[in-house]
Amino acid sequence: MKQGNKNRWHLHPAVRTGSELTRGERAADVVRNGMGSWPFVFAFIAIMGIWAGLNGNTGFDPYPFILLNLFLSMLAGMQGAILLISAKRADATPKVLHIDWTTCEGRGLCTELLPTLLTRDEWGYPLAYDRRREPHIPTELEKDVQRAVKLCPKASLRMVSRPDR
Ligand code: SF4
Repeated sequence: MKQGNKNRWHLHPAVRTGSELTRGERAADVVRNGMGSWPFVFAFIAIMGIWAGLNGNTGFDPYPFILLNLFLSMLAGMQGAILLISAKRADATPKVLHIDWTTCEGRGLCTELLPTLLTRDEWGYPLAYDRRREPHIPTELEKDVQRAVKLCPKASLRMVSRPDR
């Protein structure tokens, strides 16, 4: 992944963002961003220290801090689930159509199977309407693309994930 694009995967048109996300997904992202930060780590260490310092051997949760352990176990369980929700969305990376120009014979079957994605150049080779070398595949076209990949007589088509596009 190119360094400049590393944090911009969410800007790709195939990735849902902002108001397209459910409330749960937005909450998971907020929690993930908060927990995956140094301020969270320092605050966590500070709270642990304060808790241990205040309780010592005589407080409401004396050493070995059973109540604190209970809270930490609950936090770890919740954290795991929240991170999975957030990661699930990040895993939905955009897919693109890779055309191997070295093997394509330019008869244009794929342009007939994918008329909204591909047109033909003057020699009959497939050309993406969006002018990309690897055109973005809208979700609703994934099945059609899979069919085109299967039917391409030269096996020149591949559907690939490109999280850095
Ligand atoms: S179907 Fe395959 S061989 Fe035919 S034009 Fe498309 S990519 Fe090229």
